[in-house]
Amino acid sequence: MLAFLLALLLCAAFPYTSADGLCQAEFPAAVPDRPGGFLVFHNGNLYSFALKAWNQSPERYFESSRLFRSLEKGVQERRLQVGPVAGLEFHTVSPEGRHNVVQEFAANGFVYEFSVYYSGEQPEEVAGFFRSIRFSSAAKDGARTRLIQCSVLLDGLASELIDHHPFPSQPRCPAGGAYILEQNGLEFSIHCDGDHGLPPGYPRIDQTRQIFEGPGRPLPRPDL
Ligand SMILES: [Zn+2]
Repeated sequence: MLAFLLALLLCAAFPYTSADGLCQAEFPAAVPDRPGGFLVFHNGNLYSFALKAWNQSPERYFESSRLFRSLEKGVQERRLQVGPVAGLEFHTVSPEGRHNVVQEFAANGFVYEFSVYYSGEQPEEVAGFFRSIRFSSAAKDGARTRLIQCSVLLDGLASELIDHHPFPSQPRCPAGGAYILEQNGLEFSIHCDGDHGLPPGYPRIDQTRQIFEGPGRPLPRPDL
């Protein structure tokens, strides 16, 4: 029984879905509630994920990313294709034998960046993690994608406001909206005034970090 439990614990994987619902991966440890990005330590390896808004074509993104990476010494590059989504892998090894593998994918106005630091040969845990990355082949609905992108920005603004109090400098919503803050003591709400085809004042987030796309209509966060 104990051996069984131990085996279960050793190969436990924590499924993660990106905030736009289109990308999935299995992390070796629990993932913090940060849709925009996070770090996870496991067995001495450092895993990270970042979801970045990118509104130009994937080719333009890879062009600038390649240029940036070419400043590093001995970087090895590999093209990737996961389902419908193209990506690039950059692999560097420090003089101390510390590896950094970064896999970047660009689609739907986002860049999905997975990276792992590890020492020595690539452990099976790391290989399994990279193999677990999947993208949904679901037809892309542009309006829905923009709403999800907007909700990720809203969540970022709300958590900044909760952690640091001043209203952070505002990103522009992909639907062209600006973000409006209403505050009353410890309670606040932020909404986007862009055109998402929703009732006025939506999407909206409050101090509980729940996002609504209409009165009484919570916007599901697929990473929860
Ligand atoms: Zn918006």
